[in-house]
Amino acid sequence: MANTLNVSQALKLPGQIFPFSAQIDVESAEVFGETVCFSQAALTGTLLGAGDTVTVRGELRCEATMSCARCLSPVKVPLRVDVDERFSRRAAETADDAEMRPIEESCIDLTDCARELLVLELPMRVLCAEDCKGLCPVCGANRNEVSCTCLEDGEGALAPDAPPGSGRSEPDRSAGEVITPFSALKAMIEGDEEV
Ligand SMILES: [Zn+2]
Ligand SMILES: [Zn+2]
Repeated sequence: MANTLNVSQALKLPGQIFPFSAQIDVESAEVFGETVCFSQAALTGTLLGAGDTVTVRGELRCEATMSCARCLSPVKVPLRVDVDERFSRRAAETADDAEMRPIEESCIDLTDCARELLVLELPMRVLCAEDCKGLCPVCGANRNEVSCTCLEDGEGALAPDAPPGSGRSEPDRSAGEVITPFSALKAMIEGDEEV
């Protein structure tokens, strides 16, 4: 089965380190109100067995595709995550094993593990370019690609740092912008300057 790894050798020979590499298909995830897609992830590392448990240590690499916070165009985000996860043949049997993932039929399934680690590693917000001009608040045109005439008469002029969707109906996205720690921090700093 895809995304699974046979760990029978590590279970048979506890204390011995087995190097391995695996390719993992990662399903897209809903994060901060947007759909994030992932390339196939590559996991390289070692297996170490001890009793009923196997520890997987290594490095997970993947490329996520997120939307630019200003113009919504896709942005590729390379991800690299350290992996240190425990799997057990007796997972969920005892309270102690709560943090263990299951070993079933001498195999471990890396799907959930990889997805969880990658989602945690995603940045809050990405830009296609530092100077991305964003979308026109009036006509919705991507101002990196076309120069519409909406702003020439001063209608709906937008400050460069204004969040995307201002003046457009995108309640989900603007709500997401408000609750990020970064925007809260920014508001605090701006508040201080006014005092
Ligand atoms: Zn952009
Ligand atoms: Zn326009």
